[in-house]
Order: sequence, then C-alpha cells, then structure tokens
Amino acid sequence: MNPFQYQRVSAPDAAIHAGALPSAKFLAGGTNLVDLMKYGVETPTTLVDINHLTLTDISANPDGGVTIGALVRNSELADHPLIRQRYPLLSQALLSGASPQLRNMASTGGNLLQRTRCYYFTDINFPACNKRAPGSGCGAIDGYNRIHAILGQTDKGPTSAETCIATNPSDMNVAMAALQATILVQGPKGKRSIPVAEFYRLPGTTPQLDTNLHPDELITAVTLPAPRFARNAYYLKARDRNSYAFALISVAAGLELEGATIQSAGLALGGVAHKPWRSVDAEHALAGKPANAQTFANAAEIALRGAKGYEHNTFKIEMAKQGIVRALTIAATGTGANA
Ligand SMILES: Cc1cc2nc3c(=O)[nH]c(=O)nc-3n(C[C@H](O)[C@H](O)[C@H](O)COP(=O)(O)OP(=O)(O)OC[C@H]3O[C@@H](n4cnc5c(N)ncnc54)[C@H](O)[C@@H]3O)c2cc1C
Ligand code: SF4
Repeated sequence: MNPFQYQRVSAPDAAIHAGALPSAKFLAGGTNLVDLMKYGVETPTTLVDINHLTLTDISANPDGGVTIGALVRNSELADHPLIRQRYPLLSQALLSGASPQLRNMASTGGNLLQRTRCYYFTDINFPACNKRAPGSGCGAIDGYNRIHAILGQTDKGPTSAETCIATNPSDMNVAMAALQATILVQGPKGKRSIPVAEFYRLPGTTPQLDTNLHPDELITAVTLPAPRFARNAYYLKARDRNSYAFALISVAAGLELEGATIQSAGLALGGVAHKPWRSVDAEHALAGKPANAQTFANAAEIALRGAKGYEHNTFKIEMAKQGIVRALTIAATGTGANA
C-alpha cells in the first residue's frame, strides 16, 4: 500500500477543505476504498475520515418522501421502519447485498460510489484497463467478460482508449434509480442536488469517470420522493451464490396499481451497464396497461432493446428479460413488498 496522510474531520466544511487536497479521498466504511488501496488500484495521498460527521439521520420529509444521511449504514437503512414501510424495494435491494458484517460498515454515500468489480480493473497486473489506466485499452472485451455490460457500453475494440464494458456493482443504487432518488452534495462551490439518473455516467469517451460528482464534492444525503410502490414492489437478484455475491443481473420493479391496471411503474436493472439502468421507455409501456404476463413481456423486450453480449455474458440478455417478467409478476401480487 502507498503511504498516505490520515485526517479525521468533524464538520462538512472541514471535510470539503481537506477533500480539495490533491489526490485526497473521503473514507466512510472503507469496505471498497481500503480494498482498492491494498490492491494498488486507488492511491490517495490523503484519507479524509468522514465517519465523525453527523450525516446519520433518516427523516421523513413534508412531501411524504425521506432524506437519508450519507453516513447511514446499509443495515440500518434496510431495517428502518420508514424504509421498510414506504420503500420495501430499497430495503430488499440492500439486504440482497454483501453480508451482514459488510452492511454494518457500508455507508449510503460509499455504496453509491463503489467501483466496478471488473477483474481487469481490480488487478493491476493486467496492463489494459481504460478505467484504471486511461488510454491503455480494455482487457475485458476479448477476455473473460461474464460479469460485464450488455447495455450502454463503449465497444470500439480492445486497443481503443474509449472501450469499457464494465458494470456498476451496487444493488442499492438500482432500487434508488427505480425510485428516482436525488443525491445531495456539497463542495467548495456550494451545494447541489443531482437526480440519480444524472449522477452516473456511461463510459462514453471517458471510461475512467464513473459519476458526475467532482472529486472534492462530498455526498451529504439522498432524498426519495413520496412513495408510489409501497405495496407492489420486488427486487430480484440473480447471482452465482445466494449470499455474498454481486448481481449477474438484478431488477428493481415497482408498480402503482388501481385494480388490475398499472397507473405508473418504476423499472431499473443492475449488473447490465456502467450505471443502474432505468428504462423509462419500459416504464411508459407499462403505464395504463393491465398487469399481466403480456404487458410484462413487452416491457422486458423494450428494456433490453439494443442489448449486446460478448463471449461469456450473452446469457444475461435472456436472463434480464425473464428477470423483468418475474419481478413485475411478483410485484403485482403484492407479496413481494414484504419478501
Ligand atoms: C466481499 C464483498 C461483497 C460485496 N457484495 C456486495 C453486493 O452484493 N451488493 C452491493 O451493492 N455491494 C456489495 N459490496 C460492496 C459494498 O456494498 C461497498 O463496499 C460499500 O457499500 C461501500 O461503502 P463504504 O462506506 O464502505 O465506502 P468506502 O469504501 O469508504 O468508500 C467508497 C468510495 O466512496 C467515496 N465516499 C464514501 N463516502 C462518501 C461521501 N459521503 N461523499 C463522497 N465520497 C464518498 C470514497 O472516497 C470511496 O471512493 C460488497 C463488498 C465486499 C467487500
Ligand atoms: S471493462 Fe472497463 S474496467 Fe474492465 S478492463 Fe475494460 S476498461 Fe477496464
């Protein structure tokens, strides 16, 4: 591990001041950052420990929504009555992630910013990775790409400086995408709110960038709008083991029903793209339709339009379609919300 300075802060202003130092990184639960430092992937010169900031509340908003402090741990968030009652989708997504010990450490802000699990990114012995070493190419595209993207990737061949087919590994952010969360951040230039749909980036021409957060900006909270899917929601996660494994594909499905008719829907996929993949087109196709197998199959086809697989991950396309139908079917029964 590279040598680094350690600085503990107790106020957001002090955190932002320290975070403006070159190559500084905020330290929350450390469950991703410290691993990446041990592997030599992240090499911050200063670690700004934010664990003493009071960003730990979960509170109800006057509009019926909820605000979640950036340092709320994943386990506390999943079990909080406001989340369980109003946003069971989020609770389920959180509980499907990692292990109880990790969820006790993992924070809301850190979970949003965890980095890809692409093997060629996390192992510095592989020379080609545009995300870790911009301009070096992409080892995954002609390599072992079972966990990689099928939607929204940049695919210009193994030697292009733009190619990246990495996926975002978070479960929490898939539910937040379907719920249309907003990320609240604070930096040297003040505060701003970023809808989750604008927070994450596709690789585009800059695969080294995961999000639109500036390096010196601190996530302070996440807000959720008034709930629509408290009764009819389901988070489906397909993975190699039933616990302690990242999603091959995941589906966050929420339905607002009136009788058997869908008033509105929230639909996002995990494990398929560089960002949580919300399909607005599929949501629109669901609205106003009867909640039945044909409607759900149509939404699945729309959500996977343009999907492209590689040597080891083409199975994800069919798996994602079937996952969507299954998640929507369970959500519609109303049994998924308390699963
Ligand atoms: C074995 C294992 C299995 C896992 N399985 C899953 C899984 O199935 N599903 C899943 O979703 N996750 C899984 N995870 C990932 C885990 O959820 C993340 O490591 C965790 O959420 C990161 O949170 P943290 O607080 O520890 O972040 P840290 O490691 O402290 O930080 C991560 C990044 O976020 C930045 N950061 C943290 N807080 C802030 C803030 N407030 N403002 C700005 N920047 C900030 C840090 O600088 C760093 O770059 C797994 C992890 C491990 C080790
Ligand atoms: S997919 Fe992205 S993260 Fe993985 S090797 Fe290619 S450039 Fe790196």
